[in-house]
Order: sequence, then C-alpha cells, then structure tokens
Amino acid sequence: MHTRECGHICGESSPAIGEAGKTGEWRTETPCIDSSKCIPFRRNRASCFLCWLYCPEGVIKKSIPVEIDLEYCKGCGICAQICPAQAIAMK
Ligand code: SF4
Ligand code: SF4
Repeated sequence: MHTRECGHICGESSPAIGEAGKTGEWRTETPCIDSSKCIPFRRNRASCFLCWLYCPEGVIKKSIPVEIDLEYCKGCGICAQICPAQAIAMK
C-alpha cells in the first residue's frame, strides 16, 4: 500500500528506482520526447501525463517539460506506445 501524489491510498506496489543499480545500462533503445508535440508543454498546463502513469519504472517526471531519468529507464517503449500525441520516439 502506498499513497499516490494525489493523496489516494492504493493497494498497488510502487516502482522502486535503482534496486538493481543503474538499470539504464540495460537499455537498447532510448525514449526521446519532442516537447513541441507533448500536450502539457503545448498547453502549458498539467494534463495528460499518460507516460508518467504507465511507465513501469517510475522514471518519468510529471513536469513541464516532461523529463525521463535515463539512468534508470530500461527502454521498454511503453511510454512511446501510450502517448496520444506521438511525442515520444524510441531511438
Ligand atoms: S503521454 Fe505524451 S503527450 Fe502525454 S505527457 Fe507524456 S509525452 Fe506528453
Ligand atoms: S521506455 Fe519504459 S522505462 Fe523508459 S521511460 Fe518509457 S516506459 Fe519508462
């Protein structure tokens, strides 16, 4: 159980950064965000953040612009697949 940023108590486990070291070294593909397509950046307001919600590693920061901690991102590509604006490309 943990408390999310919104204050809701959830029964899910939290992703833990760094339990296996700097897991970003496992990555073969890197997510690259094009902020000009990213919805919160375009609207200058907190919205969308589906990438943050779905990232299994908890390495996406809910900020404007959105930031990814590449030291721990494993390159799974879920963020790129879930992004409704196609703002994330795997390279
Ligand atoms: S899912 Fe895409 S549009 Fe939404 S916040 Fe993330 S990068 Fe931006
Ligand atoms: S590629 Fe996977 S681990 Fe990396 S930021 Fe996107 S969803 Fe998270």
